[in-house]
Amino acid sequence: MDAAWIKKDFKPYQLFIDGKWTAPSGTVSIPVMNPATGEQLTTVPDANAEDVDRAVRAARRAFEIGVWRKMDVSKRERIIWRIGELIEKNKEELALLESLNNGKTYGEALRGDIPPTADIFYYYAGWARKIYGETIPVDGNFLNYTLREPVGVVGMVTAWNYPMLLAGWKVAPALAAGCTMVLKPSEMTPLTTFKLAEYCQEAGVPDGVVNVVTGYGPTAGDALARHMDVDKIAFTGSVRTARELLKASGESNLKRLSLELGGKSPNIVFPDADLERAAKSAFWGIYANKGEVCSAGSRLLVHEDIYDEFVGTLAERASKMKIGDPLDPASEMGSQISETQMKRILTYIDSGRAEGASLLTGGERDLEGDKGKGFYVKPTVFANVTPQMKIAQDEIFGPVLAALKFRDVEEAAEIANSTIYGLVSAVWTRDIATAHRLAQQIKAGSVWINAYNCFDSSSPFGGYKQSGFGREMGPHALESYTQVKSVWVALD
Ligand code: NAD
Repeated sequence: MDAAWIKKDFKPYQLFIDGKWTAPSGTVSIPVMNPATGEQLTTVPDANAEDVDRAVRAARRAFEIGVWRKMDVSKRERIIWRIGELIEKNKEELALLESLNNGKTYGEALRGDIPPTADIFYYYAGWARKIYGETIPVDGNFLNYTLREPVGVVGMVTAWNYPMLLAGWKVAPALAAGCTMVLKPSEMTPLTTFKLAEYCQEAGVPDGVVNVVTGYGPTAGDALARHMDVDKIAFTGSVRTARELLKASGESNLKRLSLELGGKSPNIVFPDADLERAAKSAFWGIYANKGEVCSAGSRLLVHEDIYDEFVGTLAERASKMKIGDPLDPASEMGSQISETQMKRILTYIDSGRAEGASLLTGGERDLEGDKGKGFYVKPTVFANVTPQMKIAQDEIFGPVLAALKFRDVEEAAEIANSTIYGLVSAVWTRDIATAHRLAQQIKAGSVWINAYNCFDSSSPFGGYKQSGFGREMGPHALESYTQVKSVWVALD
């Protein structure tokens, strides 16, 4: 994949407010990097509170005038569908942008990031005319019915690992519900969020409905979180930032929140499973997107009878993984997002060693060839991990697998539930009773049986415990972009 054709178009970005590229009021700009090469791609503004206020005012105006929420629903449906088509039409360009800016391989971006982003718009297009209230039988001589109305202006704050997909998961249901919005992508990966806003405009979304401000969390993000005229924040990111957002909501206008946070997900393998399939899934469950995946199967729980062989085979395969240039079709894994992230991962690896886990493979930065310009970490497998170790408790967000041993179903469930997180989980067995028992016992938003990383625009995704609250996708996401009004009419 030759990236030259796209790089020549890079110029310093402005903010996207009220349908126009708008100069920021401040002078601070943020370099947008290619982590695989250390090369600067462009810059984006660090929006300050004044810029954020301008974007929120544009969104508020659009909401109150009703340019979007009062538009004919069939027209809104077609516009949302058209956004999906534009994403699909430009999939190579978008995949290249994600790969250049994030360090993931081009193939992963082309297959994993872009198609589901298009699909989420196809899915929610039809919902634009299927969101409605109910009539309710009540005591007395009344007609009682409900109106399901959009929540209003939504601030969307997103992470860097699936930049466009995470934005799509929020923008599509918000548009279907009739909301207006201000997006604040991660300062590290803002490029495709701008593209998304451009496609919305091209598809026919009126100006002011979708606005993009870029900036650091404590500046642009905090200004959005504390704005008195933002009705909701839809967030994807870390638990640490979620706490800041909850505080900001409490100290401003009690805006509602939906939180998609981290995970430390258990992938549980029993001896009676299809072990070849389980091993393949466990491998990609941790190493896809260089382990920078909220749903990464970072804790592998293997039954004691097959532990040594299963974990050994996996480590063997990991040691042969092809790491390198994200644009080279032969590369299976690209560069971590940043030097900071790489150092964080390496610090966790050190802690695994210090706490007595056995390092089977990896465990260091990969500097082979010209990889020293990027932030490559070798796929790592730790065996003999115990549930209390730091590498079994904390979300590392890198290619580090912690393999734990269990005796029986009860112990598997206990270990699975032994972290603060509860995002996803998987169980590998041919015994349906074991599978369904664990599906009930595990405290996580998704349980995958004999599979890993199953996602569909129709099916809800989100966390238990400190993995957050609220759901992305499916009809469930619409709950958090709408509110219910009860209307009473006296009939006498
Ligand atoms: P992060 O919390 O550091 O940043 C996320 C976003 O919040 C960024 O846009 C950032 O600028 C902004 N932000 C930071 N501080 C802020 C503040 N004080 N006020 C307002 N906004 C602020 O997270 P990250 O490092 O970008 O992403 C990694 C995390 O995201 C991991 O924990 C990962 O598991 C999680 N994640 C979850 C999902 C999911 O769907 N559950 C998906 C992807 C990533």
